[in-house]
Amino acid sequence: MGHSHQMSAIPLVFTAPRAVRPARHLADLDPGQRRAAVAELGEPAFRADQLGRHYFGRLEDDVERMTDVPAAARATLAEALLPPLLTVVRHVGCDDGATRKTLWRAMDGVLIESVLMRYPGRTTLCVSSQAGCGMACPFCATGQSGLTRNLSTAEIVEQVVAGARALARDEIPGGPGRVSNVVFMGMGEPLANYQRVLAAVRRLTEPPPSGLGLSQRSVTVSTVGLVPAIRRLTGEGLNVTLAVSLHAPDDELRDTLVPVNTRWPVAEVLDAAWEYAAATGRRVSIEYAMIRDVNDQPWRADLLAQLLRARLTHVNLIPLNPTPGSRWDASDPAVQREFVRRLRDRGVPTTVRDTRGREIAGACGQLAAAD
Ligand code: SAH
Repeated sequence: MGHSHQMSAIPLVFTAPRAVRPARHLADLDPGQRRAAVAELGEPAFRADQLGRHYFGRLEDDVERMTDVPAAARATLAEALLPPLLTVVRHVGCDDGATRKTLWRAMDGVLIESVLMRYPGRTTLCVSSQAGCGMACPFCATGQSGLTRNLSTAEIVEQVVAGARALARDEIPGGPGRVSNVVFMGMGEPLANYQRVLAAVRRLTEPPPSGLGLSQRSVTVSTVGLVPAIRRLTGEGLNVTLAVSLHAPDDELRDTLVPVNTRWPVAEVLDAAWEYAAATGRRVSIEYAMIRDVNDQPWRADLLAQLLRARLTHVNLIPLNPTPGSRWDASDPAVQREFVRRLRDRGVPTTVRDTRGREIAGACGQLAAAD
């Protein structure tokens, strides 16, 4: 860790001050704002929809191929509404190319990552919502470096559009395909960047030319449990899936694993989760990283089952992906099986997340941290 911090100290000197905001992009704007932006450039309002169809519908990234826009207007429109936001630092693949992690550099130099995971019948994009994270969970690589800044709506959307483009262009093994699911489980706490994340969810789920046209149910927003923001999300009337990173059923342990628990303890987080489930009719996913001898005891499985029994929920156990320099490891497989058995025996639907991308540090800020 010490070594990697020294490495990153050099480019930091040359990065722009934090106050510099990412350039405005089409994907930051709703349809009305787009028409206004286009009109300001002296172009007819319908150009907004043309650009939307190219960017979201055809996944076009070459302005010269937007041939229904007059050649003379293309450069002006592209400069104002389709500025470059993210450049690829590198792609890292595994699972014969079906999993691909991308390290991106934003225009101010910050590094973020996204992961594309192709399964038979579905392709999930895991996106970052912030550069770094302020939540300081000690087992998470991103949590160690603190928050650098919020990503803009378009910087979030662009991670998905780039993945959709790679799939459409047959750059991912398995033939041409589409993104079917998006999970906000990359770097950052999405509900700490609430407005931009919500706008990104709208862009992802509105049909072209407004957005990418994914179904709301196929978008998962994962949170440490910022209770006021969960309540606010409940009020949005969206049908996205909510995931809560619980990791412990008791406040004493959760205070140490997810430090915001000292502000919003387990009972309050779960209450807010059940309100969300009631409002949407959707199962709330409870994320639980299995950490050897830390949170994997049979009594904790029983306590967790007691909290979740008869609720609209589903437990997603994640074998801990050990981060370099951390003292923690994944649970023993037999211990994990017993934990699963106790939850299921008590009627709590439980799955164990596959460990896709483990060998490429596919989870949790590890690639950006290693740079
Ligand atoms: N901030 C959000 C989303 C980020 S991470 C949240 O906390 O929910 C997505 C999930 O990966 C979270 O459940 C997080 O706790 C978990 N996670 C982070 N680091 C991990 C690691 N090293 N091994 C396994 N899961 C990890």
